[in-house]
Amino acid sequence: MTAPRVRLPFEGTFRMTQGFAERPEVYKRYGLLGHNGIDWGMKVGTPILAVADGKVAEVKFKDDAKGWDADGYGNYLKLEHAWGESLYAHLSRIDVAEGDAVKEGDPIGLSGNTGFSSGPHLHFGMRVKPFNRNDGWSGYTNPVWFLVGPGFNEAVDGARLAELTRRAEEAEKALADAQAAFRFQRQELLAQAELYREQIMALLRRYVPGQLPPNADPFVMVETLLQREAAQFRHQELVAQVALWREKATELVRRYIPGQLPPNADPLVALEALLQQWSEDLKRARLAQLAAFAPPPSSSAVVYQ
Ligand SMILES: [Zn+2]
Repeated sequence: MTAPRVRLPFEGTFRMTQGFAERPEVYKRYGLLGHNGIDWGMKVGTPILAVADGKVAEVKFKDDAKGWDADGYGNYLKLEHAWGESLYAHLSRIDVAEGDAVKEGDPIGLSGNTGFSSGPHLHFGMRVKPFNRNDGWSGYTNPVWFLVGPGFNEAVDGARLAELTRRAEEAEKALADAQAAFRFQRQELLAQAELYREQIMALLRRYVPGQLPPNADPFVMVETLLQREAAQFRHQELVAQVALWREKATELVRRYIPGQLPPNADPLVALEALLQQWSEDLKRARLAQLAAFAPPPSSSAVVYQ
């Protein structure tokens, strides 16, 4: 018997909330090594479909919130197939009876939240011949190996393969184009840099003739040249500033000692001499003032000097 390929037990796609063999600590109490099926989260009332042709082997239903197996599958049904069995659990409604024949895709009931369930979901199990009920999984195997549908063993047919090949070729071409564009841009940038270098060399030759060493880096040369020019400029500024001060000093000296400034005298030196003179005059005037007010030396211990 070849491995069965079966459809999904519903239309559309739902999120798988628990895979096969997960959470062994929870399933230990059922005598299992772990979760022995697949869970998909889905709202109560989602139509459940037979995954393959077969016969209804077992139906367990009780019309209350917990269903028939309150501590386990709740309401559930089992189909028998040529290759084994499929199980649908936690249902809210069952639309087939034991012994009914079903075709692949037939609606068999509605999903629910009965039994040991923490939220609305479908538990789906598969026993594939030959199976052993005492293998720690109660004979159930991982359905993902056999399911075919969105996200499960999707057939890669000729058309899809051609589409995938076309997309891969497109991606490769886009990459090659990007690489070529990059190479071109790099060439352009290099050419631009070379042009700048030539222009700078021409400038250097014009402004520092004879000083350019062979193989000199023109950028370094420009830097040196600019530094030298800047130093020259600062020097000129200082010279201009000193000339301005000298002019102002001359003007001051002429105002306060007219006729006394010898020709070619340094106005700064003359100003210094003038200020010293003023200082001496002030000192003398102060001493004369103090002497005028001082009592005769015999009547005081204070001596003014
Ligand atoms: Zn489950």
